[in-house]
Amino acid sequence: MKSNKVRLISEDGRRIDGRLPEELRPIKIDIGVLKNADGSAIVEYGNTRVLAAVYGPREVVPRHEELADRAIIRCRYRMLSFSTSSERKSPAPSRREIELSKVIREALEPAILSNQYPRTAIDMFIEVINADGGTRTAGITAAAVALADAGIPMLDLVAAVAIGKLDGMLVVDLNGIEDMNGEADMPIAIMPSLGKVTMLQLNGVLTPEDFKKALSLAINSISKIYELQKEALRKRYLTVEE
Ligand code: ADP
Repeated sequence: MKSNKVRLISEDGRRIDGRLPEELRPIKIDIGVLKNADGSAIVEYGNTRVLAAVYGPREVVPRHEELADRAIIRCRYRMLSFSTSSERKSPAPSRREIELSKVIREALEPAILSNQYPRTAIDMFIEVINADGGTRTAGITAAAVALADAGIPMLDLVAAVAIGKLDGMLVVDLNGIEDMNGEADMPIAIMPSLGKVTMLQLNGVLTPEDFKKALSLAINSISKIYELQKEALRKRYLTVEE
């Protein structure tokens, strides 16, 4: 989050990519994209493209990590070295990737009925194929449908979006330039039908009024993403039946 040098909202209220403040990028969800994973999905938020693969419930290796009363849930978020627009990203796990792995796991854990599979592991891998802002939010949306695709029992899906503040205006689903140059960035994950927030982070500054409005924008956007998740799941399972 840097000081606001680039103009991000035009005179006619459009953003750099032509979107209105409350408009999501085009979102695409494809489920069951990997044959060898138990569940998988590719999710696109505009130019951001993320692959999620889920394995499990399966035997815990190393064994000492297993839990007697529930499944252990693990997550690894990674950006492929060719995924960024700037120079090649180092393939070594960065502090950011380690932190995001934890953030994404914690956003999904409340939805997973892990007590149904004691002494097993559920592993989620999030691979960022192309990064243009919102990789954690697209990653959460992708992991949720990949978990469902793996047949893992869940209380609800989880979907996520980032709300930002650009030139004093609240907007939804920040792209890379907006993320770098805006005044605030607030990624939020919600279990949509339960109406429960499972992740909320804030980078930058918002007033209490902004915060309330940002939350309601997030709820509204996430309900749209949730519809796309359900539609993609229906498409996947109707195709299998045919
Ligand atoms: P998110 O992707 O969830 O918005 P960040 O706010 O940390 O997470 O990153 C914002 C954007 O900055 C990313 O989506 C990506 O486009 C870019 N970015 C992040 N890390 C790197 C990196 N190591 N090299 C180049 N670009 C990066």
